[in-house]
Amino acid sequence: MSKKLEVETVEAFGRTFAKGNIPEISPVRCMGCRNCVNLCRKLGPTVLDIVDGVARPVHPENCISDGACMVACPTKAIFLMSRYDLSAPPAAL
Ligand code: SF4
Repeated sequence: MSKKLEVETVEAFGRTFAKGNIPEISPVRCMGCRNCVNLCRKLGPTVLDIVDGVARPVHPENCISDGACMVACPTKAIFLMSRYDLSAPPAAL
């Protein structure tokens, strides 16, 4: 059975991204290097920051689901994107 989803899209870097996803970050694998934070800020969304020594999505509503943070991580601490309801964005984790 298939299901149609309504999505909000964002144009960035010459591509179209679907909003409503945030990175899942393993606090065990994260070593707080800031690679993901710095890249996310450089690209514009500014979703992530270091909290208590590990990366966290402090502005999940800004995420454009481009996945750049996943590529930036040297320890593979970011390995999935979690979907959330756009009408009820999660609070900062
Ligand atoms: S790039 Fe990976 S290890 Fe570095 S702060 Fe981000 S999640 Fe943690």
